[in-house]
Amino acid sequence: MDWLADFLLRSWNAVLTAGLGLLIPAVFFLCLGYLVKRRALFGDIRRALPESGLNIQILLFNVVFTVPLIVLAANFLTDFWHASGLVLVPPGQWQDWPVLAVIFVAVVVGDLVGYWRHRFEHSSFLWPSHAVHHSDTEMTWLSLERFHPINRLTTFAIDSSALLILGLPPYAVVANSLVRHYYGFFIHADLPWTYGRWNILFVSPAMHRWHHSVDEVAHGRNFSTVFGLWDWAFGTHYVPGPCDGPLGVADEIDRTLWSQFSYTFRPRAFAHLFRRRSRREVTPAE
Ligand SMILES: [Zn+2]
Ligand SMILES: [Zn+2]
Repeated sequence: MDWLADFLLRSWNAVLTAGLGLLIPAVFFLCLGYLVKRRALFGDIRRALPESGLNIQILLFNVVFTVPLIVLAANFLTDFWHASGLVLVPPGQWQDWPVLAVIFVAVVVGDLVGYWRHRFEHSSFLWPSHAVHHSDTEMTWLSLERFHPINRLTTFAIDSSALLILGLPPYAVVANSLVRHYYGFFIHADLPWTYGRWNILFVSPAMHRWHHSVDEVAHGRNFSTVFGLWDWAFGTHYVPGPCDGPLGVADEIDRTLWSQFSYTFRPRAFAHLFRRRSRREVTPAE
């Protein structure tokens, strides 16, 4: 039974670390929310409580069960790409670069890869797991934690593989994840900011909110996470103003952990997508 005691101890430590990691963002977004909304913030928090509670359940599940798999995947992918002979830039070449420049390259390349990976997640192949992220109808900074374990694993595998193929050092891969994670909290926050014309440079909370909108005009738009530049360059940029309409998906996913995770394995998740795609393909021609 040593393995069980070991697992429980690791799980407890992981949950404790995740809880402490959320403390600073929680205080930050509480203060920011009060500055922007004043007393209206408390009504918004009350309305978002059921969705936020589910987001925290998903976070705890991923911390205990998905993160250990990601650690295994990290070791596997590092060995795999180094042994494959497909690494484009010899890792030693980055040693001559300043650390901040290497991190900048990792974040820019990571965001470009993330843009296309996100577009791939909206394809028939990956949508059934990505739909879980979009099922939050009361988006807050905690919506960043609503990801199906399969979505977490595919994201990690695709993004880190691209950086490893470029021979980027592990610290740059980690830095890219941290930048995307913390900026991800920000773009999911319930803030009306659009950044005006500057959202071509950086993704604003309103820009990503449109990505979560049920409005079909906004489907297939705003896939960037950090630099809005990619959406502008590839013709998917859409920010007509603050996004005040309803959020979520047409997919029927209940607000329980079981429904969220099992949805990905239901045949109707795939069948529904084909209807969704065909509808979307018709829309631009209308
Ligand atoms: Zn999406
Ligand atoms: Zn999102």
